[in-house]
Amino acid sequence: MAERPPYEIARETLKQLSTRRLAPTPENYLAIYDEIAGVRSATPFPEAQLSHILRLIPGQTPAQKRLLGQFEKAIANKDWSGLQSVLVGYANLGLSPAAASPVELPPTAPAATLPEDLAELLARLIDNTLPALGEDDQRVHGMAAQLTTFLREPTPLISTLMLMLGNFTYRLSFATEDQAAIRTSLLELLHMVFENIAVLSADDRWLQGQAEALMTASTPPLTLRRLDDVQLRLKDVIFKQTEAKARSMEAQEQMKDLLATFIERLAQITASSTTYQGTMERCADLIGKASSLQEIAPVLEEAMSATRSMALDTKLTHTELLDLRERTEAKRAEVAKLQQELDRASAQARHDPLTGSLNRKGLDEAMEREIARSRRMGAPLCFALLDIDNFKLINDRLGHSVGDAALVHLAQVTREVMRPQDLLARYGGEEFVLLLPDTTVDAGVAAMTRLQRELTTRFFLQGSEKILITFSAGVAQLHDSETSFDAIKRADQSMYLAKRSGKNRVMAA
Ligand code: GH3
Ligand code: MG
Ligand code: MG
Repeated sequence: MAERPPYEIARETLKQLSTRRLAPTPENYLAIYDEIAGVRSATPFPEAQLSHILRLIPGQTPAQKRLLGQFEKAIANKDWSGLQSVLVGYANLGLSPAAASPVELPPTAPAATLPEDLAELLARLIDNTLPALGEDDQRVHGMAAQLTTFLREPTPLISTLMLMLGNFTYRLSFATEDQAAIRTSLLELLHMVFENIAVLSADDRWLQGQAEALMTASTPPLTLRRLDDVQLRLKDVIFKQTEAKARSMEAQEQMKDLLATFIERLAQITASSTTYQGTMERCADLIGKASSLQEIAPVLEEAMSATRSMALDTKLTHTELLDLRERTEAKRAEVAKLQQELDRASAQARHDPLTGSLNRKGLDEAMEREIARSRRMGAPLCFALLDIDNFKLINDRLGHSVGDAALVHLAQVTREVMRPQDLLARYGGEEFVLLLPDTTVDAGVAAMTRLQRELTTRFFLQGSEKILITFSAGVAQLHDSETSFDAIKRADQSMYLAKRSGKNRVMAA
């Protein structure tokens, strides 16, 4: 193509811009001009834009300052490869934790740092969250350590923090997912164990009950209180199963011994009766062949002696068998008694057999747990002591077993009316203690008053007679350094005040 003068190319370019309906921008002009001229102009160097970026890049550390100098020089020289090495240099600074340099910054705050107290709060947040993750992911712990160290350095840069937090959060998301999955599968495993206990102990009602309670207690949502309950019940189950196993093995051994003796005796009987039969057959044969009484006499003598010995053997064996049977019976009764005692002992381990509420031992353990929890969480804890009013009258008028049923009724209504986390314990004959977690004394009094009201609507029916059960109660909120004994003593004193003021009322200690 012949060379065209530049003015002609310029005119043609303008014509093309309008024909092609292109905006008359410098870029479009240059592109059409190049096309018509058949050349390729050098792309203009974005000096202004790069200078703008230069102003936003931080230059605090010596390394940053050096790179910034290089950046400025590269712009001045329109040097693309110089710019490239500056960018790579900055990226590498970001990769080295010791240099901990920002790679990118918010455009308005190039060197913003985090206030010291906020940094410390963030560091504490990370410190406190970490134990929840367990020890499984060492990498996440390493990153957390780096992050908290960085946060506790003087004037931590926000930009660096953002980068580190971004990486940490990403890793954390995996770790927390892992923890959740581990928890779920551990719970499933636990359930399988409990189901297995239930299946294996199909003939033991106590164990069955415990296994079912364990399955319920280990169903999410889990709380520390429920896990404590699981642990306690499991301890009882393990104790009971170990005992039961040892006992049944012992019983099995004894039965095996007895059976062996039995079979031995049976064999002896068969052996002596076979001998006897042989003797008798021989004697009958001799008698048949005998021709005189003299010949028969010794044969008879022999037959009689064999019969006597056979009778003696049979008698002896009979006595021995009787003896064996007695011993077996005695053993069986002993095993059954042991079983009963063990059932009672296990059931009574922490619960009162009549009302199913905690007994003194169960209460002691529960108090220890709840007091520790209340102090750990800084949450209030209330002790309520209730004593049934005029209980002696119920016993005297309707009999002791009706009195017992009234106690069962009271425990049942209490469990239905109070919150699931409240614990009921039988403290004495007709005295109960209630542990009310997360409850102030006012709320405790209100809760006990509600229980009183509910008792007046849920009658205790004896045949067609409606029996009203009322109680007097004292409520004490645990003081900072008070023992459970002292708190119950205060609740007891208030309960007595309630009795003296006319019964059927609740008083705060
Ligand atoms: P108050 O209103 O002053 O408490 O009078 P009360 O009659 O309830 O009190 P008191 O202490 O004089 O009598 C309590 C009675 O509770 C006496 C006892 O025989 C009875 N009792 C204790 N334990 C049991 C139990 O397990 N079953 C039954 N049926 N009665 C019980
Ligand atoms: Mg009493
Ligand atoms: Mg009473």
